[in-house]
Amino acid sequence: MAASLRLRGAASGLWYWSRRPRPAAASLAAVCSRSMASKTPVGFIGLGNMGNPMAKNLMKHGYPLIIYDVFPDACKEFQEAGEQVVSSPADVAEKADRIITMLPTSINTVEVYSGVNGILKKVKKGSLLIDSSTIDPAVSKELAKEVEKMGAVFMDAPVSGGVGAARSGNLTFMVGGVEEEFAAAQELLGCMGSNVVYCGAVGTGQAAKICNNMLLAISMIGTAEAMNLGIRLGLDPKLLAKILNMSSGRCWSSDTYNPVPGVMDGVPSANNYQGGFGTTLMAKDLGLAQDSATSTKSPIILGSLAHQLYRMMCAKGYSKKDFSSVFQFLREEETF
Ligand code: NAD
Repeated sequence: MAASLRLRGAASGLWYWSRRPRPAAASLAAVCSRSMASKTPVGFIGLGNMGNPMAKNLMKHGYPLIIYDVFPDACKEFQEAGEQVVSSPADVAEKADRIITMLPTSINTVEVYSGVNGILKKVKKGSLLIDSSTIDPAVSKELAKEVEKMGAVFMDAPVSGGVGAARSGNLTFMVGGVEEEFAAAQELLGCMGSNVVYCGAVGTGQAAKICNNMLLAISMIGTAEAMNLGIRLGLDPKLLAKILNMSSGRCWSSDTYNPVPGVMDGVPSANNYQGGFGTTLMAKDLGLAQDSATSTKSPIILGSLAHQLYRMMCAKGYSKKDFSSVFQFLREEETF
């Protein structure tokens, strides 16, 4: 099942997204009664760097949680706080009719939905399943079809903002799915994010996320190259950053997340590139952009180069560092 989802998903094109039929009125009626039950338990699967603070924000808003993570230690503090920890995604689906998943990759997400003890084994009719992982949009669309066959609703809602925004409840959610369901999704997502944006049919949330991260990777590499060149030309890095940030080269990577140690406080470059958004995850997202570009015949020349560069960094020991460590990588590759 998992393999067929991936293979079939990879072959489908983006044009399909806006043509997906809407669910029948009967299934919408079931959904309405579910979304009215405001403070009933919410399932949460995947309590890692992002899922942990996101789930805590749901708790702060008074939602009891049904928790599962394949790594039991990730559930400990939720158990200690009185939340219910269960032993499989199927058990989550048995106890909650609204479930959020926050998992690393497409493969993990397919496993959690369609695996032997996956959500689909026990999902209740009318349930709302929101996947906030960053995965292949084609896989989201395939999962939505499987979920719909069970009389439930699937929405993709990947996030932008990182661990800091997850902690402060200021994530941006990019939501794809049936428009009539958006308000029900917003009720939960609004507890974890300050921007919840409806993008269109299922898969479009992932599309927006992938485009954003491809641009982010390119602008981060560009910032690192410009800063490195300026330093080698004898400029003080803080002065150069100040000039870029009052000039046309300014971008988020230069003014909010500068990759050069010593230029800014409170960013991964100030902390030996620990924390933040890992190079492995950036390489994964660029791989998703690459797959989507192939299936839609879109030229992504710089996106492809960025993908190769981040893969190379993973192979050279940077996989656990924040993606802004591309600056350090350039410094160490003097013979380029
Ligand atoms: P993470 O690796 O820290 O956490 C993932 C969690 O999922 C882990 O606790 C892991 O044990 C669990 N998990 C993996 N497979 C599982 C399975 N089969 N069943 C149950 N649990 C399973 O990852 P993260 O940083 O929290 O990122 C999650 C998603 O969010 C990724 O898709 C990532 O690309 C995206 N994202 C991350 C950031 C960031 O700054 N870290 C920002 C935006 C988006």
